[in-house]
Order: sequence, then structure tokens, then C-alpha cells
Amino acid sequence: MKQFTCTTCPNGCLLTIDEKTLEVTGNKCPRGAIFAKNELTCPKRTVCSLVKTTVPGYNVISVKTNKEIDKKLIMDLMKELNKITIKEKLSIGSIVIKNVLNTDVDIITTEDMK
Ligand code: SF4
Repeated sequence: MKQFTCTTCPNGCLLTIDEKTLEVTGNKCPRGAIFAKNELTCPKRTVCSLVKTTVPGYNVISVKTNKEIDKKLIMDLMKELNKITIKEKLSIGSIVIKNVLNTDVDIITTEDMK
């Protein structure tokens, strides 16, 4: 048995999953069962971070993944973010890295510089 706290909604249900049968208990809704199975087999996260800019008034700009990414790729993702520097003013939602690490996930801005 493994336990996870469901982060899908603010209820934060404590989920227990049987590693052999994948039976989930403790969930108040079906999304909890999906969450627990994903956490057990392939945990994913939305990642928020900062990237450097050379734009006056902005030392850094906040960015995030537009979809969840495999948790095991987060360190490689942070290395990719450290490689880039934004050189022009961008609108919120602008793509700064497309298909990062060949994951079909884009890195987008979460603040408006314009
Ligand atoms: S199991 Fe359902 S109700 Fe409970 S935290 Fe997850 S999404 Fe929310």
C-alpha cells in the first residue's frame, strides 16, 4: 500500500493505493483514483520557474509548463531554462521554449512585459 495526498482540488484527500490491484481508497471523487494511479506509475507536475531577461526593468520573468511534465524530467527542464535569456518584451502566454525536451510541452510566460 502507498499513500498520496490528492492535489487535484483543495479537499486534499488522503489516498491509499494497493500497488498490486491499483485499487484506490480515500478518494471523494473519481479524479482521486486517476491521481493516485498516475502518482504510482508516472508522476507528473506543472513546473513554475523564472528565466533571465535583458529587458530593462525585468531581471527575470516568470514562466511555467503549459502541461504537466514527467517528474523525473524536472531537473533537466531547469537546466534548459537556465540556458535561455529573454531579449524582448513578451505578452503573457508567449512560448519561450517549444516542445521542451521533446515532451510536447511548451514553456510559456506567466506575466505580461508589454
Ligand atoms: S479525490 Fe476528488 S475530492 Fe478528493 S482531493 Fe482529489 S479531486 Fe478533490
